[in-house]
Amino acid sequence: MDIEEFRNFGKAAVDYIADYFETIRDRPVLPNVEPGYLKDLIPDEAPQEGEPWQDVLKDVDRIIMPGLTHWHSPNFHAFYPTANSFPAIVGEMLSAGFGCIGLSWIASPAYTELEVVMMNWLGKLLGLPEEFLNCSDGPGGGVIQGSASEVTFIGLLAAKEKKVAELKAQNCPLTDAEIKGKLVAYSSDQSNSSVEKSGLLGSMPMRLLPADEHGILRGSVLLEAIRKDKEKGLIPCYVVANLGTTPTCAFDNLEKFGPICQKEGLWLHVDAAYAGAAFACPEYRHLNKGVEYADSFNFNPHKWMLVNFDCSAMWVKNAKYLVEAFNVERLYLKDQHKGLAPEYRHWQIALGRRFRALKLWFVLRMYGVEGIQKHIRHQISLAKYFEDLVCSDSRFEVCSSSMGLVCFRLKGIDALTQRLLKIVGEKKSIYCIAGNHNHKYCIRFAICSRLTEKEDVEFAWKEFKSAAHEVFAMEKTYNIIDEKTEKKIHDIHITSPICEILHEKTK
Ligand SMILES: *Cc1c(COP(=O)(O)O)cnc(C)c1O
Repeated sequence: MDIEEFRNFGKAAVDYIADYFETIRDRPVLPNVEPGYLKDLIPDEAPQEGEPWQDVLKDVDRIIMPGLTHWHSPNFHAFYPTANSFPAIVGEMLSAGFGCIGLSWIASPAYTELEVVMMNWLGKLLGLPEEFLNCSDGPGGGVIQGSASEVTFIGLLAAKEKKVAELKAQNCPLTDAEIKGKLVAYSSDQSNSSVEKSGLLGSMPMRLLPADEHGILRGSVLLEAIRKDKEKGLIPCYVVANLGTTPTCAFDNLEKFGPICQKEGLWLHVDAAYAGAAFACPEYRHLNKGVEYADSFNFNPHKWMLVNFDCSAMWVKNAKYLVEAFNVERLYLKDQHKGLAPEYRHWQIALGRRFRALKLWFVLRMYGVEGIQKHIRHQISLAKYFEDLVCSDSRFEVCSSSMGLVCFRLKGIDALTQRLLKIVGEKKSIYCIAGNHNHKYCIRFAICSRLTEKEDVEFAWKEFKSAAHEVFAMEKTYNIIDEKTEKKIHDIHITSPICEILHEKTK
């Protein structure tokens, strides 16, 4: 492909993306394909000779598009948002165009230096304490990682090395390996699966302590768990606090965790992957109170702050602990800029680094602080609107509502809500997933797409209402049939799972 062809191909691809966004509202949010659909549509081997880009782009439309789940459809309400914006898309394009690997400062000075400044901009936007920022006089700083999962794991590794060094300095008679074998980590049973995984990967048992009925891990529960482990001769090391849990967006209290971690010498990591973006709005910063106790703090601009995946912001109070844990110098990596700019390769797992700061810069400049605040506030207001709609119908109940996430259910046994979600899921016009609140089955309704508006929320609500109608219609049929012959009950028994459960219950 020569430069002229690239110009045409690139422009056609941008047009294709623009057309996609123009039509995304009309596409069913979930694809209508079966597993294995794609292999029948493409050859078994790569083509012998290169093909024209026009043919390839056509095949994107024919083969790829039907298999996409439209995360940016206004009817996508599953999981949490994944960010997408035009400035970030173009930022990604340019980053691919430059195609450098930022493995050291000299490998592309702009990579490191823009990232340093962007992490300061972002930290100030969230109102983080100065000591976390690259621009502070102290040893703190910010870095962009690929995902919150990675950050939780990196925090654990740093906490582990710090604890070993600390105990060795106190003349602990155990070997490094013996100390490492005794370390324990803590989080709540509401934490993201990646928190449990970080414990597995880092060979540190992760105690998933029971949260209270609001999804919050109480300081007293944490303290008791630490006490028990110490009694057993184990060494408490790492705590992951959740600001915005994955199931219900609940907030642990850092002011409770902080003093405990400080007293017991535990590394406190804050996982604010989704909800951290809300701290851009001063009215939500009270939920971040006590952040000054944290050793590391993380949120994902790639979730709720309009920066395309991947972009996960991590700040540490003392970067020394990362650098000491991860520094493996080689001659080919030596350069003369020590101290003037961070060598971010020592702050992460991989050697190579993408230019993620570029898309972040584009988003922050083109939206501005006000644009970002407007986005967050608008999405929260849409969730509130949905909550009001649910509350207006006496068949439903709201289990929790926080930020852009509403968890709700049909009153009564779980089977009703399971059936409701199944009916809505089969129609594929909106996409939601199940959740769990206080051991009850519920539906998680998240405002995800930046294209979602009031009418889309009303549309989703209509879908739930009409599905509820179907759920209760089935229940009625069953009740009538119940008074008739055994045979008829058996018919219903097979065709309608809800009746099966009701039947079980009445037996
Ligand atoms: C989404 C989420 C994660 C995982 O984020 P990744 O960047 O995909 O690893 C972790 N913790 C919480 C609270 C989340 O909401």
